[in-house]
Amino acid sequence: MRLSRYFMPILRDDPKEAEIVSHKLMLRAGMIRQEAAGSYSWLPMGFRVLKKIEQIVREEQDRAGAIEVLMPTIQSADLWRKSGRYDAYGKEMLRIKDRGDRDMLFGPTNEEMITDIFRAGVQSYKDVPRNLYHIQWKFRDEVRPRFGVMRGREFLMKDAYSFDLTREAGQHSYNKMFVSYLKTFARMGLKAVPMRAETGPIGGKDSHEFLILAETGESEVFFDKGFHDMDWGAFEIDYDNVEAVAKVVDEFTSKYAATSEMHDAADYEKRVPTDRRVTGRGIEVGHIFFFGTKYSEPLGCQVQGPDGKMVVLQSGSYGIGVSRLVGGIIEASHDKDGIIWPESVAPFDIGLINIKTGDADADAACEKIYAGLTAKGKDVLYDDRSQPGGAKFATMDLIGLPWQVIIGPRGLKDGVAEIKNRKTGARENVALDKVVERLAG
Ligand code: ATP
Ligand code: MG
Repeated sequence: MRLSRYFMPILRDDPKEAEIVSHKLMLRAGMIRQEAAGSYSWLPMGFRVLKKIEQIVREEQDRAGAIEVLMPTIQSADLWRKSGRYDAYGKEMLRIKDRGDRDMLFGPTNEEMITDIFRAGVQSYKDVPRNLYHIQWKFRDEVRPRFGVMRGREFLMKDAYSFDLTREAGQHSYNKMFVSYLKTFARMGLKAVPMRAETGPIGGKDSHEFLILAETGESEVFFDKGFHDMDWGAFEIDYDNVEAVAKVVDEFTSKYAATSEMHDAADYEKRVPTDRRVTGRGIEVGHIFFFGTKYSEPLGCQVQGPDGKMVVLQSGSYGIGVSRLVGGIIEASHDKDGIIWPESVAPFDIGLINIKTGDADADAACEKIYAGLTAKGKDVLYDDRSQPGGAKFATMDLIGLPWQVIIGPRGLKDGVAEIKNRKTGARENVALDKVVERLAG
C-alpha cells in the first residue's frame, strides 16, 4: 500500500478526550473514529488489526473443535422472555420495536438464540458434544462507555457455546476452551492470566476470566509471579485427549490468581511466598463460564439419551473481546513514540520510508524493494509522500509496524538501506539487493 493513496488520518497531538494510552494511540494513528458514545468506525489501519485478531481467534476456535456460525445482531424478544432474561437484563439491553410493534433487541449475547438453534437441530445423544461459535457485533448500553474500544457499547465479541450430555463431558468442553484461550492470547504476544471468576446467583460450577496486565486495567489483580515462567502456548495439545487437556488446566489453575472480587487475602498469603506476590491491574479479554442447564432447561434443549430417556443438555459459554483486544494489545505493547505491534497482528509487516521522495535513485530503489517484498507475500506500507524525513520517522514509529526499511541518498551512495526493528530499536545496514531476502527470506 502506498501511503500517498491510503487513508490514515494521523493526529499530531494527543486527543483531549482520551484518558488511556491505547485510546490515544488508536486515535492518533488514525485507526478509529468515534461516532457516538462507545461506538466507533474502524478506519483502514484499525480494521486491518481487528481482522487479524479475529482470524487468530477463529483459527484457535476451529483447532479446538468449535464450529463457526453467524447469528443476527437483532433478535426477537420471545426467546429472552422464555429464559427470563428479557426483564432481568435491565437498561444495558438496547430494546427496539419493529414496524409491527414487536419487541426486538440488539443482542448483548446469544445464549438464548444458540440454544434454540441447537434444540431445533439435534435429536439424539449422538449429536453431542458440539461447540458452536460466532464472531459478531454486540451492543450493551454500558453505564460508562470509556477508554475507546476497551469499553464500548457496540463491540465485537467471539462467543462460543458448548452442548454436552453430562456434566463430566461438559467439563472437557470447558477445558478445551480454557486451553485454546491460552493459545489464542499467546499468539497475540499476550500472557492472559486465567483467574477464577464469580459464577453469580445461578451458581454455575466453573468460571474463569482471562486478564492481561496493564496499569490502566479496570480490575485489581493479585497473583503468583510464577505465572511469568510458565509455557504460554508453545505447548502442543491433542484436544481429544481428555487427561492432557485437563492437565494444562490444572497447571494454570494451581497457581494463585484472583481479581479483587474473588481475592482471598488469607489464602493468598498461605499459598504465595512474599517475594512472589504480584499486585497490579488487569484487563479482561476473555471469560469462560459453565452454566449447566440454565438455558437448555427453559428452552427445552434436550436429546434422547442412550437409554431412550430425554436428557437436558449441559452448556457453557465462552467469550473473547475481539475489539477490546486491539486496545489491550496496545496497552501491553507501546513506548513513548507509539504502538509496537506484535508481528501476528500488525496491520502491515513492514514500513518502507523514502527519505527523499522525488529523487530518482531513491524512488527507484524503493520501488524495487516494495515490489520485491510484496511479491514475497509481505504487506508493505510504503511512505512515498513528499514530507520531511523526520515526520515520516515519527509517523512510522507511531503506527508501530514491526520493521522499517529506510532509504535515502546517504545510504544509496554506499548501496545500502537501513533496517530498523521497531520493538528493539536495533538498526542495521543491509545491501539494497539483500533487503528482500533479509525480511522475507
Ligand atoms: P466486563 O466485566 O469488562 O464488563 P463482562 O464480564 O460483562 O465484561 P462478558 O459477558 O464476559 O463481559 O463478555 C465476554 C468478553 O467480551 C469480555 O471478557 C470482554 O473481553 C468483552 N467485553 C465485554 N463487554 C465489553 C465492552 N463493553 N466493550 C468491549 N468489550 C467488551
Ligand atoms: Mg466477563
